[in-house]
Amino acid sequence: MIPYGRQNINEEDIESVVNVLKSDFLTQGPITPKFENHIAKYCGVTHALAVVNATAALHISCLALEVGPGDIVWTSPISFVASANCAIYCGATIDFVDIDSRTYNMSVEFLEEKLIEAKKIGKLPKVVIPVHLAGQSCDMEKIKTLSNEYGFKIIEDASHAIGGSYKNEKIGNCKYSDITVFSFHPVKIITTCEGGVCTTNDQNIYNKLYKLRSHGIVRNQNELEFKSDGLWYYEQVELGYNFRLNDLQAALGINQLKRIDKFVEERNNLANRYNELLRDKKDLIIPYQDQKTLSSFHLYVIRVKQNEGQDRKTLFEKFRNSGIFVNVHYIPIYRHPYYKKMFNEDDFPNAEKYYSEAISLPIFPGLSNIQMDKIIKIIDTPANFQNIF
Ligand SMILES: *Cc1c(COP(=O)(O)O)cnc(C)c1O
Repeated sequence: MIPYGRQNINEEDIESVVNVLKSDFLTQGPITPKFENHIAKYCGVTHALAVVNATAALHISCLALEVGPGDIVWTSPISFVASANCAIYCGATIDFVDIDSRTYNMSVEFLEEKLIEAKKIGKLPKVVIPVHLAGQSCDMEKIKTLSNEYGFKIIEDASHAIGGSYKNEKIGNCKYSDITVFSFHPVKIITTCEGGVCTTNDQNIYNKLYKLRSHGIVRNQNELEFKSDGLWYYEQVELGYNFRLNDLQAALGINQLKRIDKFVEERNNLANRYNELLRDKKDLIIPYQDQKTLSSFHLYVIRVKQNEGQDRKTLFEKFRNSGIFVNVHYIPIYRHPYYKKMFNEDDFPNAEKYYSEAISLPIFPGLSNIQMDKIIKIIDTPANFQNIF
């Protein structure tokens, strides 16, 4: 079986976790803050706050930007459902901006058109959540310019994209956003089993995120509302959650971070090899690379053109029947039963077309040339070929 993505764990990763198990703290010890410092330094950002997963990171990011009932949040329809659910957790409404037909990221042109219309009817979004699909950054400078003009905040859903860069600077530096979110799920670039991070340069946002991660509790003398009763005293000043990452996970994260550039390089090498092998196939579209970005290549998405030889569904089945766990990223969020009643597919023609053609081929550090050749061979087998053996 070849999965579409998987973790890379070495002996040193295992040792780092075992060391925490033998130490005084399993959670809320010294390791999580250390992991946060490493992430902040790597990304070139002031603050990093580690949480249980990217879903929680998106949730408290919306809350920290004061998203609530009556507010509107926009994201890309071609993403994991978590990119949209975070707004709904806060009581806000969600809407989608159709994708660019080349990068598959939120289209900046459609974003601007939609903002112009929204302004006319007084329905501007409070927050926009661009998603860096497959690890390739959205055009953040342009989105930032629009945010200045229309007054929305920006959360980058960079769940796919740690290790990637935009205009030669690391994704996560928040130069063009209020908050960036990363995921450390095992299929992503680095892993902490489950885990996520919010990065920000804004002290005020960081303080809010910090409180929301741990029950809305404060301990610092200067943050207390009432007079302290003694050294044991703390206060819950708002409704927060228990979204803390533990020290076992953070230790794994610190060690994984040592190899992040190697992982991204290897993913890029794999993508280049796929490109070479697939470039001349006339019924396939290989990933477009925006010259302003370096993708971390969380995903390698090809598009199978309809009505020319084999279609996507047949090819997908051929892969799965051969033990190759390709996938489709993603079913447009508005197509899920929970969302369907609120949206009309006709409003997102690029997302619809993409969804009818996309397949994510396996890509992860450790994928061998032999495995890749097996994958390519499946594509080369004629559609009507019957395996009679
Ligand atoms: C994986 C992913 C998430 C959720 O990440 P978790 O850490 O599993 O909660 C959110 N958004 C996108 C785009 C993702 O790919």
